[in-house]
This record gives sequence, structure tokens and C-alpha cells, in this order.
Amino acid sequence: MPEKLNRRSIVKSLGIAATGIAGTAAFGGTASAFTDGEQVEATTRLNTRKRPGTESSVVATVNAGEVGEIVNGPTDEDGYRWWGIHWLNRDVWGWSVERYLTSAGGGSAGTDIVWPMDGIISSDYGQRSSGFHGGVDVDNNVTGVGTPIYAARAGTAYTAYDSGGYGNYVYIVHENGYETEYGHLNSFAVSDGQRVSRGDHIGGMGNSGNSTGPHLHFGIERNNSPKPIPSDNYQTVSALGAIQKDYSGL
Ligand SMILES: [Zn+2]
Repeated sequence: MPEKLNRRSIVKSLGIAATGIAGTAAFGGTASAFTDGEQVEATTRLNTRKRPGTESSVVATVNAGEVGEIVNGPTDEDGYRWWGIHWLNRDVWGWSVERYLTSAGGGSAGTDIVWPMDGIISSDYGQRSSGFHGGVDVDNNVTGVGTPIYAARAGTAYTAYDSGGYGNYVYIVHENGYETEYGHLNSFAVSDGQRVSRGDHIGGMGNSGNSTGPHLHFGIERNNSPKPIPSDNYQTVSALGAIQKDYSGL
């Protein structure tokens, strides 16, 4: 993956002199819609251009819902306010118009991954005697079978069944090659292919598949490889509480 670029190198990569763009407001100036490093989402199919202005060449057309990070701007040109954006999924830098952008830093559109259930970690991520564990197990013997499980990030949810593994499970496909999976469910609260927001109820904790007792198996993958989930055995977690790791895709 490319290194995260600092502002100077991004300005250079956009082919813009580091000084002297007429109308450019520096970061930290007057109140702006977005801030440096903030994640934003396109609200429609949206052109992103080499430089601010409608005459500049289009470097990519991003899709509605695609997420980028603010790296420069704003600057006013041709009657629009423009922001320099690193579009994370396709690793492209360009300038897009503010009116077709919305903050992705909070609410259902956010890219943070959160805990999907209230409970206690019963088996953390990594090697264990029975083999590599590519996720964490969360138990809740107070609320028991049917404890609600929530989408850890916005995406498209799919339902599946694997008798020798995760039993009834949901997996959610997210931006930037990420996927989350929720195994051993007792019930589904989504249909196959349903679009979900972070925090939507997707199912109930259960004991289906290869499971020694009711629990949730929760996994995070990127490009089909398991990603570590920081946690300790016996740690208490809260549904929709933040996981202390940056899964932004960089
Ligand atoms: Zn597990």
C-alpha cells in the first residue's frame, strides 16, 4: 500500500504548485464544511478532477457512497467550492465539488468498525490450541440466545449457512475491501443482499454450526484475509462501542 502522503507531496502529486492558488483557504482558517483528514462520502456519481474547476480533466468518476479523505482545500473556482480528496478505495487523488459531498465521520455512514454485541470476550483473536482463530468470540449468558447483534459498519449484508463451521451466519461487505462476519446465529434480522447501516439489527446470538455453546463469532477481513481485532479474554464489550483500531483502509 502507498504511504500516507503529507500535504506537500499530495499537492505535488496533483500537479499544483505548493504556493499561490488564487482563492485557496488554508486549513485552520475560517469555518469550513470539512477538515483536513476528515472522511467524506460522495452523495451521487461524482467527477473528481486534476485541479479545482470545471475545465480541469477528470481523473475518476466515483460512485455514490464512495469514501475519501480530505487532503486539501477548500478553494472556490467556477462558482463551486472544491476539496482535494484522496479516494481511498481506488487510491486516486482529485478535486470534487462540496455540494455533492457529505461527512462520513459519524452516524451510519461512518467507517469505524464497532463491537456488534453486548457481552464478554470468550476467545480472542489469534492462535489457540485448536488452531488459528481469525476473529473473536463474544458471549452473553445474561441475555442468552437471541441477544441482538448489530452491523459493525455500513455495507451490504448477506445470509448464509455452513453446518460444519459458522452455522447460520451473516457477512457484510463494506468499502475498501473490508468484510465483517457474524457466526453461529440463532436468527437472521436481514435478508440476503440487504443494505445496512452501522448499528442495524442483523440477527440474534445462537449456537448453530460448529459451536460449543451460544456465542457470536465476529471476524473482520480485508481482501479475504483476517484482520486482527484488539481484545483480551474476559474483556467486556458494548454493542456499538469503538474497537481501538483504525480500519480505514490505509
Ligand atoms: Zn470464533
